Amino acid sequence: MARIASLRCVSCGAEYDPDRVDYTCPACGPRRGTLEVLYNYDALRRRLRPTSFAETGNPSMWRYLPLLPIDGERYIQPLRVGWTPVYRFPELAAELGLEELYVKDDGRNPTASYKDRASSVVVIKAQEKRAPVVTCASTGNAASSLAGFAAATKLETILFVPRTAPQAKVAQLLVYGARVFLVNGSYDIAYDLAAEAAEAFGWYNRSAAVNPYLVEGKKTGAFELAEQLDWKPPDAVLVSVGDGSVISGICKGFAELVRIGLIERAPQVIGVQAEGAAPVAAAFERYDGETVEIRDMEASTVADSICVGAPRDVVKAVRYVHANGGHLVTVPDASILEAIGILARRTGVFAEPAGAAAFAGLRRLAERGDLTGRSAAVMITGNGLKDITSVTKTIGEPVVIEPTLRAIEEHL
Ligand SMILES: *Cc1c(COP(=O)(O)O)cnc(C)c1O
Ligand SMILES: [Zn+2]
Repeated sequence: MARIASLRCVSCGAEYDPDRVDYTCPACGPRRGTLEVLYNYDALRRRLRPTSFAETGNPSMWRYLPLLPIDGERYIQPLRVGWTPVYRFPELAAELGLEELYVKDDGRNPTASYKDRASSVVVIKAQEKRAPVVTCASTGNAASSLAGFAAATKLETILFVPRTAPQAKVAQLLVYGARVFLVNGSYDIAYDLAAEAAEAFGWYNRSAAVNPYLVEGKKTGAFELAEQLDWKPPDAVLVSVGDGSVISGICKGFAELVRIGLIERAPQVIGVQAEGAAPVAAAFERYDGETVEIRDMEASTVADSICVGAPRDVVKAVRYVHANGGHLVTVPDASILEAIGILARRTGVFAEPAGAAAFAGLRRLAERGDLTGRSAAVMITGNGLKDITSVTKTIGEPVVIEPTLRAIEEHL
């Protein structure tokens, strides 16, 4: 049974048969012609109830199978992806002037980032399409998650990451058995190289935005948040933005829940970018409701996962956030680093810089009074152990002692 009704271009609206088009709209090209996956929503609305997902007993994102773009369950990996915990922190909420604060920890996925939601879907698509090789360009997490989810399959994985990618992420790629190319250049350059190589050698491409099935995995974070809060999602959801695919997925997830009647209205989705890498926020500011203007920039931020100057899903992200009624906010690197420490000390959740950026954005808006009296959730998209270099500079040094009580006393 084919679940997908069609693939629709976000720019021109042309619809395509998923058996005929793999990546982007042939008329609009890879940058503007990203495709969105459509389902038969009327049938889903009749069939799905608030309890449908819990009844599967499946503690992973695959509890949402009817809303996901795969043909069968044959290739679903044993790795448990999604259904990550949502925590409530009333005291911290009160200090920030919020009615309620939720933290959804996606650092607890198998390879420790939100990207696992997308990679698990695309590894299945690659097998359905009988591709022998999957590839992608990545700042680190997309690649490590692709390597992890392809590990137990027959797929060969070939990855392109910038030479500056954090050591822990590169270690993940290698340990999962991928072939790894460290590209002498930025992520934006690695991205174009991976696309060229995929085309030249016939590899299946998992790079952000060009592959329409990634956003489908990424929307499950929204489904989960809504279901975990008993179909009463908070007023606002904050998430960090690089290419713009994760935020697109979150917007689409909430929009689909409204469409099939499981929630009344979508929360306001707020994207957070680093000041030194904010082309999506800039495009959103310029957006007139018609054409998304693409202006790339040189990107620089401590948050490597969102260090993107040529965002590949900017058209979709701007349109979806606009339709959602959300917006974007930018934060300086210093407040991202500060947010890592505050989040860790106050909640016990250790986030990598791009994950903590969402919390830095929340603090910024709270200080401005924008969230006063409202409830908000932050999506923690990556685990702190993935990149400890920058945070190490902000947390001080432990004390080295002789192994005696005396030595302890001297330091108490
Ligand atoms: C990829 C990533 C993001 C941003 O997702 P985009 O789809 O690139 O906008 C945020 N945080 C982490 C940890 C990521 O790996
Ligand atoms: Zn098009």
